[in-house]
Amino acid sequence: MRALLCCTVLLCALGFPAWGEPVGSIPRLRPGSWSVDVTRTLSSKTLAEVDRRGSEVNSQGLGQLAVVVVNTTGGRNPRSYATELFNLWGLGHAGRDDGALLFIALKDRKAEIVLGNGVDGPSDLGRSDALMSGEIVPAFKRGNADAAVLAGARGLSALLESSPLNAPSGSTSAAAQDVPRAQDSYDPRPSQVSPPVQTEWTGEREPSPWFYGGGAGALAIGIAGLRRWWRRRPRICESCRQPRQRLDEGSDDAHLDAGQRREERLGSVDYDVWWCGSCQDAQVKRYGAWLTSYSTCPRCDYKTKSESSTTLVSATYDHGGRVRVTVTCKHCDYRDEFTRSTPKLTRPSSSSSSSRSSGSSGGGRSSGGGSSGSW
Ligand SMILES: [Zn+2]
Ligand SMILES: [Zn+2]
Repeated sequence: MRALLCCTVLLCALGFPAWGEPVGSIPRLRPGSWSVDVTRTLSSKTLAEVDRRGSEVNSQGLGQLAVVVVNTTGGRNPRSYATELFNLWGLGHAGRDDGALLFIALKDRKAEIVLGNGVDGPSDLGRSDALMSGEIVPAFKRGNADAAVLAGARGLSALLESSPLNAPSGSTSAAAQDVPRAQDSYDPRPSQVSPPVQTEWTGEREPSPWFYGGGAGALAIGIAGLRRWWRRRPRICESCRQPRQRLDEGSDDAHLDAGQRREERLGSVDYDVWWCGSCQDAQVKRYGAWLTSYSTCPRCDYKTKSESSTTLVSATYDHGGRVRVTVTCKHCDYRDEFTRSTPKLTRPSSSSSSSRSSGSSGGGRSSGGGSSGSW
């Protein structure tokens, strides 16, 4: 028993050397570097060449490639080990998922190419397989790790470059349509100029601005005045056919309830009260503000609910963050509190960005597509 305990303590102290590096202990890519060799097997010339190719494809916006060399996965399946590493680092750009990892476990004599979800189509996988079985594995069989890694880095940069993901816009290749490019999701061309739309219910139909015709530009300019005129136009009492009088902000309060007065004070809703003296009748019109931080309270139904948030964990490029959100109503006693996860930061994908010099993760994902090899 005592011997067993001593043995366990000793193993712990030595850090289970035979079990290989856990994925999280592999040193992260340093800014500008796209290679990690914990075995110190590769020549500095080889590592420099990998870094050069990695920086090149990254700065061209084609994707991100990295080479990682370890001794052993400690008995873990090299494929799942490498995929876990890929996703831990978030290789590639978020949304494009254009990462490519060459992972090598030297003592295990295993090599893995892991491709991001944006670059793992049939043609990408064909190139990856050819690279693994035609160049990387043969070089390892010759005992030349440097040649294997150089071929891998060269092949992966060619794979990213020729991937359908990076095909020029307008390409008719069927594969190019499998994976939308991130840039394509946003069309920078200005569409038809549309007037601002008030989504809040105002209690009456407003005339369509298009009814008045005219150029779109002049219409956009005139629309604010038009709205004001329409809102303030003379009103006639439906009962006695006498004109109604619009009460000023001070005297209309008498015809509003407490929640409506609160809305007015917060600026989330504006009310007009049209008074008929002969019928002693008030007509209340509701105009929701376009820009307000208040929303409708689920308890009292007034537009008096506000949110404030406190950052618990800041989001970084490596992990998402958490914020505590406190919801309160300025009118009733409604209150709610919850925590919300925020997404990890994404690096801009334009090549003009200066943050591009950083070599660490971009938020890309892989489902494990790619090629395996052993020698
Ligand atoms: Zn009347
Ligand atoms: Zn409320």
